[in-house]
Amino acid sequence: MATTGQVIRCMAAVAWEPRKPLSIEEVDVAPPKAHEVRIKVVASGVCHTDWEYLYEAGRGMSLRPFPVVLGHEAAGVVESVGPDVTKFAPGDKVIPLFLPFCEECDQCKCEKTNLCKKNWENTQAGVLADGTSRISCRGQQVYQFLGVSSFCQYTVVPDTSLAKINPKAPLEKVCLLGCGVSTGYGAAVKTGKVEEGSCCAVFGLGAVGLAAVMGCQAAKARRIIAVDINPDKFQKAREFGATECINPRDYGNKPIQEILVEKTNGGVDYALECVGSPVTMSAALESTRDGCGTCVIAGWTETESMSVKVIKILMGRTLKGTYFGGWKSAKDVPQLVEDYMQKKLKLDEFISHNLPLAQINNAFDLLRNGQSIRTVISLDDF
Ligand code: NAD
Ligand code: ZN
Repeated sequence: MATTGQVIRCMAAVAWEPRKPLSIEEVDVAPPKAHEVRIKVVASGVCHTDWEYLYEAGRGMSLRPFPVVLGHEAAGVVESVGPDVTKFAPGDKVIPLFLPFCEECDQCKCEKTNLCKKNWENTQAGVLADGTSRISCRGQQVYQFLGVSSFCQYTVVPDTSLAKINPKAPLEKVCLLGCGVSTGYGAAVKTGKVEEGSCCAVFGLGAVGLAAVMGCQAAKARRIIAVDINPDKFQKAREFGATECINPRDYGNKPIQEILVEKTNGGVDYALECVGSPVTMSAALESTRDGCGTCVIAGWTETESMSVKVIKILMGRTLKGTYFGGWKSAKDVPQLVEDYMQKKLKLDEFISHNLPLAQINNAFDLLRNGQSIRTVISLDDF
């Protein structure tokens, strides 16, 4: 490509400081170094974690450095590869990943976890393996959120944080497999291992929660109770397989866990927390049944603690957490893309809005106001 080895000047949404709207800016994206790949980002979903990182930085989320380019749920096309890259070539369709799969570390070799340790600290700090980012704006380094930064027309990621996917896959849909849908779906089928005939409750009906509902349905759960304080989410939840929908606010001060335990004659088999609040995390755990109930935490908070009554665990409940749905990222994401292509997995139904990059702040407003499920940002037009 004509741009190989050159700095690419393109447009990005830059977060200069916490709690301020994103600013559309011209940025420079440096060529990839060894074991790195530069991709042209075609589409990016807007995830709650992006919003949270900007508006809750230093509160629910640890403070990471600014300025930063957010976005971590994307799909694109390889523009060029750095030295020593063997698995990717220009033109490949890809999904960048905030969780790597290096195939070499202890965790990659272990079937019990997907938490690859490669570059972990750097990724969390918003830089690549050499401790710097490839994006700059007005001469200043701009950090790469979770090592990805997909609210930018081009970005550079490590070759271990990239999945090559079916060249026929529609990028403006499969981008959702870069985070939210994979996370919620995997929370149910992979981490929770929801069983056929079981009774499930899903807390929070954003993209992560709806994907968890979809996972419970795929696992042939008998009862899927969808819980959200925003009843506008219930229709979608039913479309994804919820058998009942509950708004905790309809029950006054009675805790939601008590309502669920009563309705299910002792508690649910699986509770999936997809809100990110310590209060709903405790409620989810307490809504599971004695002896064998399982609670999976998918919702995100980095600074807060949840309270757990010891007796609840003592009585045989299991509390689990899931990062990226338990999927081994670069290995499993191409298969999830295939599942979508074969209509075994829904994606289109999660997309409530499509917007150009210039309107990215509107996407954050829609998310915060509970009006959207997923907005997909097109990086091609403004
Ligand atoms: P979202 O904002 O689209 O959806 C959250 C939903 O929770 C909303 O529908 C909201 O009305 C509902 N809610 C809020 N308070 C509630 C309460 N008290 N009871 C019931 N429902 C309530 O968010 P999303 O993009 O679907 O993400 C959900 C969570 O998952 C976030 O915390 C996000 O950071 C996290 N996440 C985790 C991972 C991971 O790897 N574990 C990956 C992606 C996202
Ligand atoms: Zn996300």
